[in-house]
Amino acid sequence: MSRIGFIGLGNMGLPMAINLAADHDVIGFDLSPDAKAALAAAGGAAAETIEQAVAQADVVVSMLPAGKHVESVYLEDTGVLAHAKAGTLLIDSSTIDVDTARKVSAAAQAAGFSMVDAPVSGGVGGARGGTLTFMVGGSPEGFAAAKPYLDIMGKNIFHAGGAGNGQVAKICNNMLLGISMVGTAEAFMLGEKLGLDAQTLFDISATASGQCWSMTSYCPVPGPVPTSPANNDYQAGFAAAMMLKDLGLAQEASSSADCETPMGQRAMQLYTQMAEKGEGELDFSGIIKMLRGDF
Ligand code: NAD
Repeated sequence: MSRIGFIGLGNMGLPMAINLAADHDVIGFDLSPDAKAALAAAGGAAAETIEQAVAQADVVVSMLPAGKHVESVYLEDTGVLAHAKAGTLLIDSSTIDVDTARKVSAAAQAAGFSMVDAPVSGGVGGARGGTLTFMVGGSPEGFAAAKPYLDIMGKNIFHAGGAGNGQVAKICNNMLLGISMVGTAEAFMLGEKLGLDAQTLFDISATASGQCWSMTSYCPVPGPVPTSPANNDYQAGFAAAMMLKDLGLAQEASSSADCETPMGQRAMQLYTQMAEKGEGELDFSGIIKMLRGDF
């Protein structure tokens, strides 16, 4: 049994920490007292400070909103690098920008820690069920050390290469998902306008060259895929606001890598409009409603 310090007990972090607590000694820290109390009630312990959460830990896992939070939790004087034992394994599962992930990882390595970035897909359902997909960046040794813990929280664990490459894999995948959802929504909207039945378009395209996950697993119109959010008034699912976050990270990474991703940029503009119209909490497949002119 290992001692795990878990930082960031939000929608994702809390169920992940609870799953780890079934096999390990987990002590959690969050700015929210309610989040810490929820972990304590579910078999973990609550820390008053980051120092208290990490000082005796063999492993630290973090699940925070954005790069600035990860930077402060790891690098500030009150943070992880200042208070964990040298050699502690550090796993950051937040979805953050690639540059910050690489900066924090380099600082951790310089201070004698092994660190991996391990963002996830699978959402709150995957976090609760322990079925997340992890995309891991870091050394082969760091990956091997992290895998037994990731196996408890997830089902598919991929090593994507060196530091930051977990974040690269996550934003490339989600940029493609955003683009393919807009494309699928456009095709179904145009078919509708021209008098083509949605189920008929689905039956044809699902076996033809337009086939993609956004259509066959997550169809943006009700009917063809009964489990898709379109059948439930576009309740998220994966909120448009979260898709917008990931498309923004992809644009930041494109600038940083000195390249252009024009389709990703256009998808980001469309999801920005959706958020500005006050519909950011709808599922991201609800973009079809905006394309139709429903809002
Ligand atoms: P959340 O806002 O519910 O949780 C974040 C938690 O971090 C909050 O409880 C907050 O109090 C805590 N926090 C912030 N700053 C802190 C600090 N300095 N010290 C300690 N705690 C601090 O967010 P979430 O939905 O759990 O998402 C977490 C990460 O997972 C994000 O990077 C998100 O992009 C990613 N993600 C979320 C989903 C999802 O479906 N929610 C899916 C995949 C990836």
